[in-house]
Amino acid sequence: CGIVAAISQTPVTQIIFEALRRLEYRGYDSAGIATLVTDRIERRRVAGKLDNLEKLLKEKPLPGHTGIGHTRWATHGAPTEINAHPHMTDKVCIVHNGIIENYEELRTELTEAGQIFRTDTDSEAVVQLLDYYLTQGKTPLQAAIATLQRLRGAYALAMIFAGYDNMVIGARHGAPLVIGYGEKEMFLGSDSLALAPLTQKISYLEDGDCVVMTQHDATIYTMDGNPVEREIKTTALAA
Ligand code: GLU
Repeated sequence: CGIVAAISQTPVTQIIFEALRRLEYRGYDSAGIATLVTDRIERRRVAGKLDNLEKLLKEKPLPGHTGIGHTRWATHGAPTEINAHPHMTDKVCIVHNGIIENYEELRTELTEAGQIFRTDTDSEAVVQLLDYYLTQGKTPLQAAIATLQRLRGAYALAMIFAGYDNMVIGARHGAPLVIGYGEKEMFLGSDSLALAPLTQKISYLEDGDCVVMTQHDATIYTMDGNPVEREIKTTALAA
């Protein structure tokens, strides 16, 4: 029910964890964080409260400067660790808020194409679509655009790609997503509250927007891949 992403010179796991705390008020039943560790994607997930995730992260720290995090309010699939986000293959990893309405159709089609599903969630259709397009030789942005064009329903998404440190791709359609511009660091969040202590410079994505974020900038595209500008606003300083 909440999404966070961060790219920073400092390790991001703690930044993401604290932002997830600020999204707790929305309610959730499980949580997880994934980062890029050199060329690989690593993740930690738990059923239940963020305290469980905090404990797991103490036992098994998660390094990395590019990452995504999620608090889940299960709509499809029980609130178990396996169904907790982030969902991943060895190439790509995603967090999703909302509902993918055509997930059954996508699952059938992708399974026939050789993709292997591991969870009961609607969200996994997104990561399997991305993985399929990457395997076909598309770049991450091309794969993201092709994937978004196949999705029906409501979503906010954040994605990271193995071998692409310093990049997060985000997208929204019917669920909110905000970009936060920091000093040599960049963020995504479900709302400005999640990002409030991190930066006052934010930009609200519009439905159908897709953003490619690096440590230094954010480039926004419409769902057909055309660049588009969104205003950067300065929020009131947090109390
Ligand atoms: N529909 C997805 C799931 O059940 C995402 C739920 C959410 O927005 O947290 O995993």
